[in-house]
Amino acid sequence: MLIVPEALIAGLVSPEDAFAAVEATFAAMSRGEAYNFAVVREALGEGRQYGFKSGLDRSAGQLGVKAGGYFPGNAARGIINHQSTVFLFDPETGQPTAMVGGGLLTALRTAAASAISIGRLARTDAKVLGMVGAGHQAGFQLRAAARVRAFERVIAWNLHPDMLGGLARIAAELGLPFEAVSLERMVEADVIVTITSSPAASLLNAHVSDGTHLACMGTDTKGKQEVDPALLGRAWVFTDEVAQSVSIGEAQHAVALGLLDATAITPLGDVVTGRHPGRRSADEVTLFDGTGVGLQDLAVAAMAVRRAQERGQGLLVEV
Ligand code: NAD
Repeated sequence: MLIVPEALIAGLVSPEDAFAAVEATFAAMSRGEAYNFAVVREALGEGRQYGFKSGLDRSAGQLGVKAGGYFPGNAARGIINHQSTVFLFDPETGQPTAMVGGGLLTALRTAAASAISIGRLARTDAKVLGMVGAGHQAGFQLRAAARVRAFERVIAWNLHPDMLGGLARIAAELGLPFEAVSLERMVEADVIVTITSSPAASLLNAHVSDGTHLACMGTDTKGKQEVDPALLGRAWVFTDEVAQSVSIGEAQHAVALGLLDATAITPLGDVVTGRHPGRRSADEVTLFDGTGVGLQDLAVAAMAVRRAQERGQGLLVEV
């Protein structure tokens, strides 16, 4: 078994690699070659969440699980709130083949999913990127979004405005003017990424203009909520995995309220494989409910392992 620690990941997997791996995974899911197992997620108290995301990709020969969760007290300890490790197994024998640090890979695969949705669903003339959220994931999201559309400026809102400085610095690095705004000013955005751990809707229906694409990336657990359920009734809704979208994703609220039917939610992989046309008009609202699937984790972890093997990196141990 190869151990690939967190410290090696940045040198092994780039954002572009993650984009390609996640897009291939969504396509394999659409073709029925790959599927996610039911998510296990447990509250540990004091806001801590721990669980497992797992799956099997027959086409890529990947079987495994990501174990980890969200530990909100970590920021005060100087470590990130998300902690995770991916374990890969030989799908034929069940033997463990790798243990891979999952922190950076989670951020890369999550930003990749959001960027794939923007690349496939946002208007090609999108100019203004709106960011709702400014925590650890937000910077990765901003960088990934800027790779798929020629944005001319970034507007951002965060419940804790003091955190917006990090996003402002990344926008400056990307050469994009940046402005902290009220939620009401999100009507100026052509694409909006939401990436918060909010328990109640911040972004309301009235804050979103026709023709906008939303990538709702923060809601990955029962009880979290970032946007007005009415927005999901108004939008064409896409997701990574319908079963997760209606149970732990942003769609859980709209479905419970009867504003959205689960059968009306389209897997993004269907757009990647051409089974669904994606955006149909310039003025419709499209919304990607990115819940984060285990297969994304396996895909990027397997890429890290391949690269580490090629370069003789990582620690090989007997099992
Ligand atoms: P973080 O702790 O670094 O940042 C949290 C963000 O949420 C900050 O912007 C904070 O200001 C905001 N926030 C906190 N409480 C809020 C509230 N009550 N209302 C509105 N905003 C609030 O977290 P992070 O690592 O950036 O992750 C953000 C979210 O994304 C989390 O919910 C996390 O579980 C989720 N996530 C999803 C995926 C996925 O695949 N979909 C992957 C990773 C993380």
